[in-house]
Amino acid sequence: MASQGRFAMPPREHPNLYSYAYHFDATLYAGFLRNIALGRGARRTEGRIVEVKRRADGGIEQLKLEDGRVLAGDLFIDCSGFVSLLLGRALEEPFVDFSRWLPVDRAWAVPSEPDRPGLTPHTVATALEAGWAWRIPLRNRIGNGYVFSSRYIDEEHARAQLLEQLEGPVLAEPRLLRFITGHRERFWVQNVVGLGLSAGFLEPLESTSILLIQRGLAKMIELLRPGARPTASAVADYNRGMTRVFERIRDFIILHYCLTGRRDSALWRDVASMELPETLAFKLHAWRQTGWLNMNGEEGFEATSWLAIHAGMESWPVRAAPVLAEVPLAEALHALHQRRDHYAAVVAAMPTHEAFLRNMLGR
Ligand SMILES: Cc1cc2nc3c(=O)[nH]c(=O)nc-3n(C[C@H](O)[C@H](O)[C@H](O)COP(=O)(O)OP(=O)(O)OC[C@H]3O[C@@H](n4cnc5c(N)ncnc54)[C@H](O)[C@@H]3O)c2cc1C
Repeated sequence: MASQGRFAMPPREHPNLYSYAYHFDATLYAGFLRNIALGRGARRTEGRIVEVKRRADGGIEQLKLEDGRVLAGDLFIDCSGFVSLLLGRALEEPFVDFSRWLPVDRAWAVPSEPDRPGLTPHTVATALEAGWAWRIPLRNRIGNGYVFSSRYIDEEHARAQLLEQLEGPVLAEPRLLRFITGHRERFWVQNVVGLGLSAGFLEPLESTSILLIQRGLAKMIELLRPGARPTASAVADYNRGMTRVFERIRDFIILHYCLTGRRDSALWRDVASMELPETLAFKLHAWRQTGWLNMNGEEGFEATSWLAIHAGMESWPVRAAPVLAEVPLAEALHALHQRRDHYAAVVAAMPTHEAFLRNMLGR
C-alpha cells in the first residue's frame, strides 16, 4: 500500500488485518487533544513554573507560577519536555544514558513545500554521513530533518547537508535541537510521574515518543484507583515496565544501525562494530542460529517489524528452524505465492492515498 501510494481502512470485520500509522501536524494534534480534555472537565491553568516546593518526604507539594499563583496537588505529571523540571531538576532523578549505542545527539528540522499532486503516504528515512534524515509529508508542508552525531560532524556542515538534499523550497529557517538519548532511572518517583521527553528520549527513527507517552499513561491509569493510593510495589512495577519498553525500543533502533553494511564514514564504521546490549545480542543470536524472532513482553515493535529490518538488511539465519522441514518446499512456496497475489489484487483495487484523504475530509 505504501509503495503504491494507495490506502483503505481495514474491513470492519477484520480491523487488525493490517496496521497503519499517522503523519500528524503536532501543534494541531495537541490542540485537538486539549479540546477533548477540556470538554471532559479538565481545568487548564497556563503559566510558567518558577518554583517547586517539596514535601517533607521528598515528593512535591506545590508549584509556583511566574504571576504568583500557587498550584498544590496530590500527583504531578511532569511533561515539561527536555528540561524535566520536576523529575530531573527538582527530584534529581539520575539519567540512564544510551549514547554509547545511539550516538546521535542533535537534529536540524526544517519544513518545505508539499509535494503535489500525489501526496507520498509514508515517511522516508535516509542514511547520511553522520546520522539520518527524515522526510514526513503532510498536506500543507513536508517535515524534514537531519538527526546527527556531533562527534562525527559539526552543526554547520550538518545543516548544509540537510538543505542540500531537500526537493522543494524551505518554508522557514532550520531549527537546531540538542538531546541526549536515554531515560530517567525511575519514571515515577514519590508523587511525580514523568511522561514524554521529561522522562526520556529515543531518536525519532521509528517515531516512538508518542507511543511511549501512551504506554506510560495507560499503565499509570491502571494503577490509579479512586480513593486508593498506588502502593510502593505498584510504582516499582510501573518503573520496571517502562524501563523494559524503553530498552526494547532502544534495541530495535540499534538493530537498524548494527545491521547496516554501510562503511563509508566513521559513524557507520563505528556502529557496525560496537558492543551490543546483551538483550539485543541474544535476539540476534537466536535469529541467526535458529530463525527465531525472540519476542518478550512489553515490546514496542512486533515480530513483523523485526523481520522487516532483518530482511531489508539481508540479515538471514544460517539455518532454517527445524520445524520448517515438516512443510514440503513446493507447498510452502505455492502458499506464499498465492498470498502475494491476493495482497497485490487487494491493493490494486484500493483508492490512491490522496483520493482516500480527499474523500475522508470531504474535499
Ligand atoms: C527531532 C525530533 C523528532 C521527533 N519526532 C517524533 C515523531 O516522529 N513521533 C513522535 O511520537 N515523537 C517525536 N518526537 C518527540 C516529540 O517531540 C514528543 O513526542 C512530544 O513533543 C513530547 O511532548 P512533551 O510534552 O514531552 O514535550 P514538549 O513538546 O517539549 O513540551 C514541553 C512543554 O513544557 C513547557 N515547559 C517547560 N518548562 C516549563 C516551565 N518552567 N513552566 C511551564 N511550562 C514549561 C514547554 O514550554 C513545552 O510546552 C520528536 C522529537 C524530536 C526532538
